Amino acid sequence: MTARYDLHTHSTRSDGTTTPAEIAIEAASIGLAGFALTDHDTVEGWHEARSTSAKLGIEFLPGMEVTTKHDYRSTHLLAYGIEPDSRELNVALERVRESRHGRAREMVRRLAADFDIDWQTIISGGEDRTLGRPHIADALVEAGYYADRGQAFTEVLHPRSPYYVPTYAIETVDAIRMVRAAGGVAVLAHPAAGRMTRPVDHSALAAFVSAGLWGIELNHPENRAEWMPGLAEAATGFGLHVTGASDYHGAGKANRLGECTSSQETWETIRSLVAVPR
Ligand code: AMP
Ligand code: FE
Ligand code: FE
Ligand code: ZN
Repeated sequence: MTARYDLHTHSTRSDGTTTPAEIAIEAASIGLAGFALTDHDTVEGWHEARSTSAKLGIEFLPGMEVTTKHDYRSTHLLAYGIEPDSRELNVALERVRESRHGRAREMVRRLAADFDIDWQTIISGGEDRTLGRPHIADALVEAGYYADRGQAFTEVLHPRSPYYVPTYAIETVDAIRMVRAAGGVAVLAHPAAGRMTRPVDHSALAAFVSAGLWGIELNHPENRAEWMPGLAEAATGFGLHVTGASDYHGAGKANRLGECTSSQETWETIRSLVAVPR
């Protein structure tokens, strides 16, 4: 059987619902050869995922999904194998996490006028995880207002909602340069996700490639099929590597671990390029 690798997963260190160790256990049980942990804006889960993977005999690649924006559009950037002590990147990430914290607090304050939820419930889930709207969604679900995260997003957490507050995001081209300077490989996440009004455009891709983008996540459960032929052509034109991954969030999303995967060749190539390959 050919070895399969999932390059995009989230744990309880950000907005996933399973721990880094539980992801490793699930990865081994479904027969993945390895996986990357890519929590939002944090490396906190690496150690646990790494040690559990080693015990189970599967491979592990440390990663992260960085909150960035380009032309005022939210853009998620996957970073693999970065040196975790890299100062420039850490200063930027610290700002992202602090902004996320304050922004979540303000959204909860606004929501609390109309919903019976409070800040204490949100942070009781862990003070040091990267906060996001999914945690607010969970509080609304827990309080009985909505059936799941998806419904909470559709009803009150979307960007045009009166309860919505924006959060700081690093300029994508700056983030790509920082990831490279930190010895990492940068991959554009879900470039045609269905929740976007249009896929990433040619001029944005050109700017990302100039900054050092290595790959693009064309094989992702949320990429919209009708946008894919154009993007695949652009990726080839720019000489980008193509990755596949599930964007697993445990019970927080429909995406299943290993639903989309990357080849052993892609996995080995990334590992050969980065500062922290395991
Ligand atoms: P935030 O990080 O606060 O901007 O929230 C965005 C995160 O929410 C993404 O990383 C997704 O994992 C998650 N998300 C976005 N839309 C949905 C949805 N419809 N259902 C579940 N999770 C979602
Ligand atoms: Fe997420
Ligand atoms: Fe994302
Ligand atoms: Zn993700």
